[in-house]
Amino acid sequence: MSEDGPMSREQEIAEGLARVQGRIQAAATAAGRDPADVTLVVVTKFFPAADVRLLASLGVTDVGENRHQEAVAKAAQVAEEPAADVRWHFIGGLQSNKAAAVAGYADVVSSIDRSKLLAPLARGAAQRGRDLDVLLQVSLDPPGAAGRSGCDPAELAALADAAEATEHLRLRGLMAVAPLGEDPAAAFDRLAAIHDGFRAAHPEADWLSAGMSGDLEAAIERGATHVRVGHAVLGPRPQIK
Ligand SMILES: *Cc1c(COP(=O)(O)O)cnc(C)c1O
Repeated sequence: MSEDGPMSREQEIAEGLARVQGRIQAAATAAGRDPADVTLVVVTKFFPAADVRLLASLGVTDVGENRHQEAVAKAAQVAEEPAADVRWHFIGGLQSNKAAAVAGYADVVSSIDRSKLLAPLARGAAQRGRDLDVLLQVSLDPPGAAGRSGCDPAELAALADAAEATEHLRLRGLMAVAPLGEDPAAAFDRLAAIHDGFRAAHPEADWLSAGMSGDLEAAIERGATHVRVGHAVLGPRPQIK
């Protein structure tokens, strides 16, 4: 960056963060929305707890993780004194035998795609003595697509009713990922329509988590309240050990 040598990790993250915050601001303004209505969730998967601490010191309030094993260890490290205060969003595929454990550290579980997850999540939340915010993940892939994650839009209403009826879970809204190889604007158009229908039945559940490093503008234009951004803030992900 300068004659002072390579950037520190803190400078690197601060620059990535400023760039992404600028993009969020511009996209929200262009869409006639208040940038403060869009929450940045920095996806810290594969990055160390030290980066989470740096993010917190730079004002980041929300981080996302997609693998239980990694997330539980990292959350414990970040909670060590001096603890950094961040909200943990679990955004990955969830196994029902891990769900109660995820509720032990996650503040938000964003990837509920089947009703089988609800009881163990509720049990984990009850054991922790607090309610858990949950989002339902809806699939934007064509039916039957390989590697599809999220529930079928046709099954969403029943899943939402089941989530809302579950004690210790607070149904907050929807989450989705734009399919690879499709124009994200078209995918997020479908999502916005799904979210409208969903909110007619669940008016309080107004969160919409959509948009990542490559497509956050398209998501914000279509109403995203949460964007999940990894490499645009933190740089290329390290290799899995
Ligand atoms: C990894 C991940 C992200 C962030 O991806 P980037 O392209 O690095 O911004 C967002 N959402 C989910 C579900 C992820 O797994």
